[in-house]
Amino acid sequence: MGYDTLSANDMPPGDPREDSKLLMIARDEDRILLTRDGELARRDQIQALFLNGERLEDQIRQLICASLIIPELRLTRCSVCNNPLIPITEDDFGRLKRKIPDFGTTQEPVLWCRQCTRAYWEGSHTSNMRNRITEISKNDTVLNVTEVERSDDEA
Ligand SMILES: [Zn+2]
Repeated sequence: MGYDTLSANDMPPGDPREDSKLLMIARDEDRILLTRDGELARRDQIQALFLNGERLEDQIRQLICASLIIPELRLTRCSVCNNPLIPITEDDFGRLKRKIPDFGTTQEPVLWCRQCTRAYWEGSHTSNMRNRITEISKNDTVLNVTEVERSDDEA
């Protein structure tokens, strides 16, 4: 969705201070630490957010409700390595075309990641992702209505 992210999965395994390091990175880089670890989330309730749901859709909906993300697909960052995407030049295109096995003949990549050379373009995959985000957002609207109805009942 185009957000600047880091993953704890990229850290070496087995570090007993991993939780402290994650919180330190979040504070130093002004990031929100998203976690399913309740104890970790309680250690810094400003910099960390406990994700209530196990399903990705529920987690995205929670972030939308918390106004942490906007429900739209933006091709601004590489989904593999998080680096900013840049417009592709004709020279880049010649080099990259050989590396893209599922490259369509009708769609040309318009952006690429200089770090991992992954190319990005509008196609059925981006259309499917936009539809999925829209569905998640619709559910968000239903949730908000439910909350309003509950408030009315209590008043
Ligand atoms: Zn990349």
